[in-house]
Amino acid sequence: MDFRLTDEQRMLKETVARFVEKEITPLAPQLDEEEKFAPDVFKAMGELGLFGVSIPQEYGGSDLDFLSCVLVMEEINKGDVGLGTSWGAHTVLCTENIFRNGTEAQRRRYLPGLVTGEKIGALAITEPEAGSDAMSMRTRAEKKGDRYILNGTKMFISNAPVADVFVVYAKTDPEAGPRGITTFIVEDGFPGFTKGRKLDKMGVRSSPTGELIFENCEVPEENVLGQLNRGVDVLMGGLDRERIVFSISPIGAGQAAFELAYRYARERVQFGTPIIGFQAMQEILAEIATELQAGRLMAYWAATRADQGERVSLEASYTKLFCSQVGIRAVSRAMEIFGGYGFMREFPIQRFYRDVKGIEFGAGTSQIQRMIIIRELLKGGSPFPL
Ligand SMILES: Cc1cc2nc3c(=O)[nH]c(=O)nc-3n(C[C@H](O)[C@H](O)[C@H](O)COP(=O)(O)OP(=O)(O)OC[C@H]3O[C@@H](n4cnc5c(N)ncnc54)[C@H](O)[C@@H]3O)c2cc1C
Repeated sequence: MDFRLTDEQRMLKETVARFVEKEITPLAPQLDEEEKFAPDVFKAMGELGLFGVSIPQEYGGSDLDFLSCVLVMEEINKGDVGLGTSWGAHTVLCTENIFRNGTEAQRRRYLPGLVTGEKIGALAITEPEAGSDAMSMRTRAEKKGDRYILNGTKMFISNAPVADVFVVYAKTDPEAGPRGITTFIVEDGFPGFTKGRKLDKMGVRSSPTGELIFENCEVPEENVLGQLNRGVDVLMGGLDRERIVFSISPIGAGQAAFELAYRYARERVQFGTPIIGFQAMQEILAEIATELQAGRLMAYWAATRADQGERVSLEASYTKLFCSQVGIRAVSRAMEIFGGYGFMREFPIQRFYRDVKGIEFGAGTSQIQRMIIIRELLKGGSPFPL
């Protein structure tokens, strides 16, 4: 078992870390305060090649492995969870899905623009009445001639207010349950498609989240992604990767929180001594670091299993559940080290505190991850795969 990154992975991680330190970290408090997406930073991410990490070179990507995507996500989240979320929605939820399931014509039409960042992508499953129970979605798509007519509303969609290309799920055969769902590629500007309100969030504020409205929205039949009525295959194929890549978000944020708390503990003096001298403070820091490292390795392990072509539903849910909990606990405990100052908006720790809670919901809540874990275990597979 070799835990070392390849030279290529290490170089990528270091390049992104430098970019984050220079371009993202200084801007993050303002983006949070103003609840603002940063199109210029996003564009610069595209110029750095961060949107095509796992996409083959013929479509403009770098053809690296999935672990590399996880490394990029980890670094971005150290600077800003919102930009990490927008990167993930664009790169993994939309672009990768089109690559994995698209026809050659769809790949040629959509991937080059998405990989450079000229176009922004999003993925729309959730609806006002269908969250964890995604299969109960009400959005319908009816065939009329050479197009599908979509009607319905999507909710909580990352990047919705700024995106150009949407991977959208709708029911094409409502009687058939999960076997009657189809995936479509919808472009901003298709007749009958509008963006609803932008949502006002408690955290992850630099990633714009919104509603989508389909009112007799016309989608050409060549924009069916994957097979008709087999949207669940597209969804399930992508969801495990989505869970793994979003698992590292709270771990990246947790590492940033650790760094802030460690530095503060060395500087803050109480009872005549820097508070890092108190055993209670040392214990918090030691525990945070230990748990974050465990979560980090778990996410790297799950990504490596995905790279090896394994089915990774159990690994993805283990990782998403564990890393969410570890990240939330790490940031919360790091905040304790700041005392009352940590609660003040001028200190960045409170932003990470709000952000890590926000990303726990995406790709299935912690309750849903537990449900998937027990379902996988009841199938009889090993609870401890390696
Ligand atoms: C910041 C953010 C970004 C998001 N981005 C996207 C996106 O890009 N695309 C997209 O499609 N969606 C997105 N979502 C939506 C997200 O996937 C949903 O919020 C999530 O699936 C939960 O759905 P819900 O919010 O409707 O909660 P509900 O499903 O209504 O859940 C409410 C509560 O009930 C619990 N619960 C539900 N069912 C069960 C069960 N069977 N057993 C035990 N407990 C259960 C849940 O765990 C939760 O605690 C985003 C959400 C957020 C907050």
